[in-house]
Amino acid sequence: MGSIRIEGLSRKFKNVTAVDDISMDIRDGDFLVLLGPSGCGKTTLLRMIAGLLEPTGGRILLDGNDITSTPAKRRDVAMVFQNYALYPHLSVGKNLAFPLRIRKVAKDETARRVDEVAQQLDISHLLDRKPKELSGGQRQRVAVGRAIVRSPKAFLMDEPLSNLDAKLRTATRRELTDLHRRLGATFVYVTHDQVEAMTMATRIALLNGGRVEQIGTPEQVYDTPASVFVAGFLGSPPMNLLPATVGTRGRTVVASGDGVEAELWPGQSPQRAVTLGVRPEHLQVAGIVTGTGLRMTARVESIENLGSEQIAYCRVGDAAVCVRAPRPIALLAGQDVTLTAPVERVHLFDGDTGRRLEWLDVPEMTEFDAQLLSR
Ligand code: ADP
Ligand code: MG
Repeated sequence: MGSIRIEGLSRKFKNVTAVDDISMDIRDGDFLVLLGPSGCGKTTLLRMIAGLLEPTGGRILLDGNDITSTPAKRRDVAMVFQNYALYPHLSVGKNLAFPLRIRKVAKDETARRVDEVAQQLDISHLLDRKPKELSGGQRQRVAVGRAIVRSPKAFLMDEPLSNLDAKLRTATRRELTDLHRRLGATFVYVTHDQVEAMTMATRIALLNGGRVEQIGTPEQVYDTPASVFVAGFLGSPPMNLLPATVGTRGRTVVASGDGVEAELWPGQSPQRAVTLGVRPEHLQVAGIVTGTGLRMTARVESIENLGSEQIAYCRVGDAAVCVRAPRPIALLAGQDVTLTAPVERVHLFDGDTGRRLEWLDVPEMTEFDAQLLSR
């Protein structure tokens, strides 16, 4: 078992609050990815879970036991560092054996575990080498091996792939996912790379300024971002975000802005400022469309050819809007186009708080009951 509960955890450094009152439940067997821009507090949070840094407030529980003031070496968690932190003067075999040696595990048991782990990670042929005789990818495996050799309750990893080249990173991503499945253990994994988060996580916690913006499966955070920040962080290019006003026209809730018109759903809404979001892959280059849905009048500024598809960088009013379009569609810089999206692809965020707005229970609602609810 390896469930981790974080309760109101904070860490201040003089005048910087690196982690600001974070609470979350990491379930046994989760591959939880702490994702966010540089400086948002990922490493600080991970180091507190590892016991390498003391919180200035809050509690950490491992399988229900308060470990907030338990020293690192007595916590049943193992950390894999970004720079691998291997002992340069020790062979790979001795590096792997080290965590067991300091815990005074018997020699034959240690040898058995080292062999097992080396086989699991396909590094048996490297046991006699020193770290400097290894490639980056091999060092990374040894670092992982050193963490799994004593079967801890949870593995903590801080950007373990960031020193690998792109191709090796892709391969190692899949190896780590596979390892997680085989070990069935809890992983807490720090990265600023959204692709790593989307591909490896069972759940993503997106951090911003020391706080949690959203926790959910990769699909949840991508498909229903809880805030403008989440919407603008995920996706490549990320979600298009435009200022708009929501109101009522006839019996329909509509949104409009500079170059933007959306007929949303039956009902009524008081006038309010919103941020309207739509993903580049959900925009279609089309002619005149009537009825519900989003329409934008756009000028194409430039085109990027990605081989399989193209990205058109457009301008709608004062806003920059990206469109991912299949290759055969001929788009030209300077062209004026109408971009459309179906209503279910339109996201609305509160104009002041940036939090997601949900339209509650649309089909059953009478038009006068209709309200935009903020959550
Ligand atoms: P991340 O890993 O997400 O890039 P960190 O957790 O390393 O972010 O840092 C979060 C914030 O805390 C940053 O503003 C950073 O400058 C600050 N910080 C981290 N460690 C220290 C420290 N030892 N002393 C002072 N400030 C720190
Ligand atoms: Mg960091």
